[in-house]
Amino acid sequence: MVNSAILTVDDDPAVSRSVARDIRRRYGDRYRVVRADSGESALDALREIKLRGEQVAVLLADYRMPHMNGIQFLEHAMDLFPRARRVLLTAYADTSAAIDAINVVDLDHYLLKPWDPPEEKLYPVLDSLLEAWLATPEAASTETRVIGHRWSQPSFKVRDFLARNLVPYRWHLCDDPEGRRLLAAAGATEDDVPVVITPEGKALLKPSTAELAGHVGLATTPASDFYDLVVVGGGPAGLGAAVYGASEGLRTVLIEQRATGGQAGQSSRIENYLGFPDGVSGAQLTDRARRQALKFGAELLSTREVTGLEAAGPTRVLHFHDGTKIAAHTVVLATGVSYRLLEAPGLSELAGRGVFYGSAATEAPSCTDSDVYIVGGANSAGQAALYFARYASRVHMIIRAPDLTASMSSYLIDQIAQNDKVVVHPCTEVIAAEGDEHLERLTLRDLPTGVTRTVETSWLFIFIGAEPRTDWLDGAVTRDGRGYIVTGPALISDGERPHGWTLPRDPYHLECSMPGVFAAGDVRAESVKRVASAVGEGAMAVSVIHRYLEAQ
Ligand SMILES: Cc1cc2nc3c(=O)[nH]c(=O)nc-3n(C[C@H](O)[C@H](O)[C@H](O)COP(=O)(O)OP(=O)(O)OC[C@H]3O[C@@H](n4cnc5c(N)ncnc54)[C@H](O)[C@@H]3O)c2cc1C
Repeated sequence: MVNSAILTVDDDPAVSRSVARDIRRRYGDRYRVVRADSGESALDALREIKLRGEQVAVLLADYRMPHMNGIQFLEHAMDLFPRARRVLLTAYADTSAAIDAINVVDLDHYLLKPWDPPEEKLYPVLDSLLEAWLATPEAASTETRVIGHRWSQPSFKVRDFLARNLVPYRWHLCDDPEGRRLLAAAGATEDDVPVVITPEGKALLKPSTAELAGHVGLATTPASDFYDLVVVGGGPAGLGAAVYGASEGLRTVLIEQRATGGQAGQSSRIENYLGFPDGVSGAQLTDRARRQALKFGAELLSTREVTGLEAAGPTRVLHFHDGTKIAAHTVVLATGVSYRLLEAPGLSELAGRGVFYGSAATEAPSCTDSDVYIVGGANSAGQAALYFARYASRVHMIIRAPDLTASMSSYLIDQIAQNDKVVVHPCTEVIAAEGDEHLERLTLRDLPTGVTRTVETSWLFIFIGAEPRTDWLDGAVTRDGRGYIVTGPALISDGERPHGWTLPRDPYHLECSMPGVFAAGDVRAESVKRVASAVGEGAMAVSVIHRYLEAQ
């Protein structure tokens, strides 16, 4: 209970001290006793307690205080802590005001001053009020809290960022009672959401992801300006490179623009990764890999996007989006791929408000008993369908192909066939989305007949293949026509080494057209798009890096 408080407020310092002393003597080992000398300062203290996620068990307020009397104070206090028990301290002459207050602020008790001896007049009252308060417990919250709109892209982004970085948080709608109380405590309104309240009780209004990262313990700034190895991208390939690099003695920093885990971090169940016969969620795998990289001394930076790469003699220099730079002997590019956008009227306007790219696991509990639509027929879509089927009343998979066989692993096809809640709609496409505040309807077209129909739904999750986002590497390393990075022997064309290559050797396996820069995982041309191969390439890149460094 030490994170629950008993608050007393009295403008007479002597009375205030003596109430607090008596209360502390009996309850100080179980409750924090907070003392204030005016209604205003007591409300400030309550707001702070609210933001820190602590509870208030009992409020004792003197009736006669200037500016704000005890009843007015208790009325305001109820907006923040409606369950706290309320006691008015009164002189005999004010008894009738105290009796009136029983109706105004639902007073639990009034105490006549003086209350000596406390054993007879104060403690029995407080004992029974605390007993009543404890009978309907309300857990103190030491978690991060997010207050936002149900259908709002900024609110979704904040929750998604916290979830993907494995930061536990409690979510409150801004129009639910606790959401309103927290906004009031933060001095904020609905116009300021999303509001994030940190475990220390600091309120962040509409925070950027970098601001959030800083407050939830994620590093955003490199400790040094020169490293042996900079890894760009925190998916399985990047984490693999960071674990092997750091464990083999290289000063290693990994830079991630969003959240470590990459695509794999979004997977609800990876069933084909070696050593996990019962499958493993992307979040678990990411958490373990992160801890492993940190254990070996790698630095992991979040919310930092790399936007440029150049060679300065033997040094490789990477530019961040905010204009700062970092340099290293070697670089591993592990930037993976991102989902392609589905083009149809209404979809971009409703993104984050019912239309989501990837599995958006944070939304799953909200889909309970609803119809969910999934576009895509690859493994990622299949996993998502099975995951959402745990919550939704029905999951509809919209695929253009006549069946799933060409695009999905057979173990997933079998699981989908056995799941009564999942319905596959072959030869179908989404051609429009509509809704005012959020997604309400989709228009589907049957490809063979061209017949269209409209379905009511608030949930659409899109998994339609991915592409690398490597424009920032233009002119720095060779890429193929689709933007994938070309490495190793594939860079040799007609017996010629790549343009600008100055070393008297061919590029190593995984090495790019800029010596000392390597690519691993999905971003590499001709790579196998799997977690195991991405991790393997990250590890393999480090062994080639040792060879590169030895030859320098
Ligand atoms: C939902 C889903 C389920 C899947 N299930 C499976 C499965 O069951 N089994 C399996 O083997 N594979 C699965 N895959 C595929 C697998 O996740 C990928 O092959 C793997 O994640 C690729 O790893 P990667 O590190 O190469 O790239 P990614 O995982 O794509 O990670 C790249 C990272 O780089 C970051 N980044 C990109 N550009 C920059 C930049 N400029 N600056 C800083 N950071 C940057 C990105 O934010 C991202 O975090 C699944 C994929 C998805 C989406």
